[in-house]
Amino acid sequence: MTLAVDPSGRQTAAPEQSLYLVVPLYNEAAGLRQLHERLQALATTLQQCYRLRCEVIYVDDGSADDTLVIARGLPAAPALDVQVVSLSRNFGKEAALMAGLDYAGQGAVLFMDGDGQHPPALVEKLVQHWLVDGYDVVYTAKAHRDNESWARRTAVRGFYALINWGARQKIPEDAGDFRLLSPRATAALRQLPERNRFFKGLASWIGFRQIRVDYEPEPRAHGITSFNAARLIGLSIEGLTSFSVAPLRIASALGVLLALGAFLFGISILWETWIDGKSVPGYPSLIVGMMTIGGVQLLMIGIVGEYIGKILSELKARPIYFVAEHNVRRASPDAASG
Ligand code: UDP
Ligand code: MG
Repeated sequence: MTLAVDPSGRQTAAPEQSLYLVVPLYNEAAGLRQLHERLQALATTLQQCYRLRCEVIYVDDGSADDTLVIARGLPAAPALDVQVVSLSRNFGKEAALMAGLDYAGQGAVLFMDGDGQHPPALVEKLVQHWLVDGYDVVYTAKAHRDNESWARRTAVRGFYALINWGARQKIPEDAGDFRLLSPRATAALRQLPERNRFFKGLASWIGFRQIRVDYEPEPRAHGITSFNAARLIGLSIEGLTSFSVAPLRIASALGVLLALGAFLFGISILWETWIDGKSVPGYPSLIVGMMTIGGVQLLMIGIVGEYIGKILSELKARPIYFVAEHNVRRASPDAASG
């Protein structure tokens, strides 16, 4: 047991612990060296203040640029060990995070983007919530969305309303992937068997003591986001179908509503024919009815299909990613590599 002192001067009795920084990289060559320098400085601070042993795990998610070459050359420092995991192709961010989690050892895990948008300076605060205040999941959320369009904000709000509908454990709105998980929360996350991963949701679902930290994301250090509108919609469908059955319920509700409408319409037609003695002009109402029912049915089949697709991919139980290359660098003399 060693005594660590946090910046406010309080002493915390903490055994020496490890913190693994998982950083997914997809075409991040331009800012990588700078990020590594910032992480080295951070690791030194964390070691001094909290006696934390830090290790960064760079996961190269099949980048097309020099990301891997640069990552291979990043040096370990006394306070910071380095692992580089290179995936065999681009598997997507969630898979890259999963790979990082798999290569992390026993200890806490921090997920952070490799584009400099997640400020390393904030990490100290997250660590403080974990070690000093005893929280298990410290997640960050955008303080505001003022710089985003109205349409995007509305879509985001709708998405969370839908995914959290009737859920026991709500996924916090605006929470990002920048989060710290204590050793026991990490262990819990590792136990989840599903292949279709939606980390935001899973990290919230496991429970434990969670706390939110608001922050202002920095502008991207270089390049452009790899999540365009189409990819975000894909991720939302992925999240929705792996987390909630709300779309299926809505489908059922819509079915009931339509059937009810059709029933009332039928009654009114009977009324007009029998009581008022009018002959009912059939063609327009027929077409409208057919198109409505046809459209709604196709939509519902699509929704059900999403779930069936999910079942299929879980059933195939394929590995989530393949590793093409892995190397470890430690500053200590018993350096390992592989
Ligand atoms: N990323 C990844 N694989 C991908 C796309 C992105 O590993 O297929 C990484 C990327 O390098 C970055 C993080 O995921 O570190 C977030 O990506 P990005 O900045 O493009 O998304 P945004 O910040 O706009 O959500
Ligand atoms: Mg980004």
